[in-house]
Amino acid sequence: MALAIGATLLAYQSRNTGLLVGGAVIGAVVGAPIGLRVAMTAVPQRTAMSHAFGSLAVALVGAAEYYRDLPGIDPFTTSVLSGEMVLGFLTFTGSCIAFAKLQGLIPGKPLLYRGRMFASLGTLAAAVASAVYLVLNPTQESALPLLVGFALLFGFLLVVAIGGADMPAVIAILNSFAGISAAGLGFVLDNRLLIVAGALDGSSGLILGIIMSRAMNRSFANILFGGVGGAAKEAGVAQAGRVAQTYTPDDVATVLRDARSVIVVPGYGMAVAQAQHVVKEIADFLQGRGVDVKYAIHPVAGRMPGHMNVLLAEAQVPYEQLWEMDRVNPLFPETDVAIVVGANDVTNPAARTKADSPLYGMPILDVDKARTVVFVKRSLGPGFSGVDNDLFYLQNTMMVLGDAKKVLTDLLASMRNLRD
Ligand code: NAP
Repeated sequence: MALAIGATLLAYQSRNTGLLVGGAVIGAVVGAPIGLRVAMTAVPQRTAMSHAFGSLAVALVGAAEYYRDLPGIDPFTTSVLSGEMVLGFLTFTGSCIAFAKLQGLIPGKPLLYRGRMFASLGTLAAAVASAVYLVLNPTQESALPLLVGFALLFGFLLVVAIGGADMPAVIAILNSFAGISAAGLGFVLDNRLLIVAGALDGSSGLILGIIMSRAMNRSFANILFGGVGGAAKEAGVAQAGRVAQTYTPDDVATVLRDARSVIVVPGYGMAVAQAQHVVKEIADFLQGRGVDVKYAIHPVAGRMPGHMNVLLAEAQVPYEQLWEMDRVNPLFPETDVAIVVGANDVTNPAARTKADSPLYGMPILDVDKARTVVFVKRSLGPGFSGVDNDLFYLQNTMMVLGDAKKVLTDLLASMRNLRD
């Protein structure tokens, strides 16, 4: 951004130097502390805010360009501007709602009501109709506020009806919309940098969305219009009458003493507890005793693609010990212990067996096939999708409840004591 602003000032000898430099300073003063302080687990909502600001800026510049070119604006420019404004304004409200859901400011449950599809698609149709009217009658500026209003409303209606668990994928799709919108504006302004940056953003957001939806075995249409995650009727109910067996770190240390093969399954809870370093210490300890240790990486473990890879790399876990889901799944039946560290949904067999579950169809890590499963988490509560996990109640499951970093630190101490 500094390069772009500097180049603009040099190239155009702008008279508005104060405005540009002032804007850059305000942006840096507000943005830098947010970027530095934001927890890694909150990156999805921070990204949603960036999209909201970016798309609003693009849409507002588009509106300014339209008014500036009046009354001689041509239909082609109007059509590109109308399209990018619809995308930009809907991305703005959609991203704000995604931020509010992920930050817990509003409930993550999808807002489902009768006629929801009619209301959403009707509003989109009204936004598109306003855009078409504007293209056919470029000087009828009264259509522009209608276009803006309908696009803003559609972004709101679209995202409030999507469950919180789908927000990261929605953010990737909105990212793509914001990029396409910016690229469109680049054509109108004849700004190649904006075209390239917008196209990069648009395509990378789309690819990210495809990766996420494939990993969850869901289509874009199902994510955007499926209203998945609302009923959560399994949560809580499934626990009635069932007892999970809880154990201490000392118990787990005893089991691990006899293990020859261990697979560590990290998830969102490892990120929250920042337990990756102690996980690595435990793995090192076990490997020092000749145990075969692998890490199983689910593509949507955590809150963004690659989340676990980044954390484990930070803890200096060698890359060759990270095993992708398809490669590691056949190994679980011959594994002595699977240690699940703050992962939940990505291990939940409901994805295989319960057709009415929001998780149904998502490929999972087959930890249930290991001889013993150790779950390290704070409670018997569900994960991001709100679905109870039957694995907690199986015979071969050891639940060790507590903060992952604390539990694993105690486990490491117990293992060292046992050796001594
Ligand atoms: P998860 O299902 O959200 O479960 C994480 C578990 O961590 C929770 O059940 C929680 O249980 C536990 N936990 C939280 N804080 C902890 C702490 N300090 N110490 C120990 N445990 C803690 O996570 P996941 O298995 O990684 O699955 C990811 C979910 O995010 C999936 O539903 C996936 O579809 C969704 N998602 C991910 C992406 C992505 O790109 N990664 C994108 C879209 C959606 P307690 O509260 O009992 O501790």
